[in-house]
Amino acid sequence: MEDLQRLLQHDRALSVSTLPDKGRCLFTTRDFSPGEIILSEEPYVSVPNKSSGESRCDWCFTSSNIKRCSSCHVVWYCGSRCQKSDWKLHRLECQLLSQLEKNRIRSLTPSIRLMVKLYLKKKLQDEKVIPTTVMDNYSLVKNLVSQVGENQLVLYAQMASLVNIILQWPDLNIKETAENFSKLACNAHTICDSELIPLGTGLYPVVSIINHSCYPNSVLVFEGRMATVRAMQHIPKGSEGQDVDIRESAVLEGYRCKNHTCDGFLLRDPESKGFICQQCGLVRDIEEILKIAGEEKTMSEKASAALSSGHTNESLDMYLMVEKLQVKLCHSGSIKLMRTREIILKILMEVQDWKKALTYCRLTIPVYERVYPTTHPLRGLQYYTCGKLNWEGGMWLQWQHEDNIRERDGCVVSVATVLAVIFAMLSREWLLGQTEEAIKSITQAVDVLRITHGTTTPFMKELLGKLEEARAEASYKLSSMDDQ
Ligand SMILES: [Zn+2]
Ligand SMILES: [Zn+2]
Ligand SMILES: [Zn+2]
Repeated sequence: MEDLQRLLQHDRALSVSTLPDKGRCLFTTRDFSPGEIILSEEPYVSVPNKSSGESRCDWCFTSSNIKRCSSCHVVWYCGSRCQKSDWKLHRLECQLLSQLEKNRIRSLTPSIRLMVKLYLKKKLQDEKVIPTTVMDNYSLVKNLVSQVGENQLVLYAQMASLVNIILQWPDLNIKETAENFSKLACNAHTICDSELIPLGTGLYPVVSIINHSCYPNSVLVFEGRMATVRAMQHIPKGSEGQDVDIRESAVLEGYRCKNHTCDGFLLRDPESKGFICQQCGLVRDIEEILKIAGEEKTMSEKASAALSSGHTNESLDMYLMVEKLQVKLCHSGSIKLMRTREIILKILMEVQDWKKALTYCRLTIPVYERVYPTTHPLRGLQYYTCGKLNWEGGMWLQWQHEDNIRERDGCVVSVATVLAVIFAMLSREWLLGQTEEAIKSITQAVDVLRITHGTTTPFMKELLGKLEEARAEASYKLSSMDDQ
């Protein structure tokens, strides 16, 4: 840890400190400007997602021109460069995988593979076959924190015994392996491409030190397997992010005013038994709030049970009732209400009620814009989607990727997905092929994404290219209008 401290301080102007209620955080020791890279890290170990019909290179995650490893027939590579980079570790993994029965191989999940690779890498670093560096060593992994629930431990123990079957190490500690699974669950990152489509999972122990509450004004993006944390807003020296604005959280998580025409936010009054509207001064009784909250909770549980058992229409009616109760209960800018509307939106799309879906899309946008800061990549992507659609038309979104979304990053990616659909539909309503609109959206996208993604990645080059094309098309249209 001292070595890492020294390296971060010297090379990156960062320091690690422990805060009483947050755990370890990274602090900046100089100013960072928007778009500047705060930290880059290669994964300690990583694996591609496993999805039916699509395989990816084990090293760089590309899905094009890949070939199966000829001895284990499990792992894929795009070429000899990636295969060579992975060889020291895969040589051992390959032997183990080759010995497995066919049905065991089918049940090989990315989490199991990640754990096997974790142990193999530790072994190889202990034996000095793979060099150890300050940013790349097992003690960083060992220092990661985890929280485990009782019921998960049973599952993790089962997974650990599977790892044992694969590794066949006589002195493997099952309990420790189970604990390591909970560490992975808490700390592993979903590796996404520039459009936030999940490609795989990786363990980035140094990036993990920056937990999200520490740095709301930075963003994590992936360039291939490399994780990069960039500053989104100017981050002054010594900062570890902004204090949570009381007003903002009262809107996002709080109750609405008793007067339904009032947009004020409510704060708990320590003297009385209620919440006071900070705009008009009306008091909302706590008993009344608890009553609606109780009804809302019961209905939510019923609705989600109906949805997961496939009773789509029934669940839609229930979710509409949940929404009604939440409108009574929550501020119009509340995240809870937005999440309910996202679910309703998804169901409406499933039953292909496009008109109503569009109404719900529009309802979610203001909250979304509130939750994500202006330079958040999702907002950039949302403009990008909009521009792409205005220009090319049609749905480009691939729903099947939804299956790959993992719980941890679930909320972020599902919002992106929903928004992409929202804009797909909005743009279909607004005339397709409007070049001017497209230029406006792409320009907005570029402004955001040049900060979050840099300007040298292939995705950004494509985007900048599209902007040029759209501009050329617009000026051609203008000049042909002059001719008439
Ligand atoms: Zn590759
Ligand atoms: Zn192999
Ligand atoms: Zn009020």
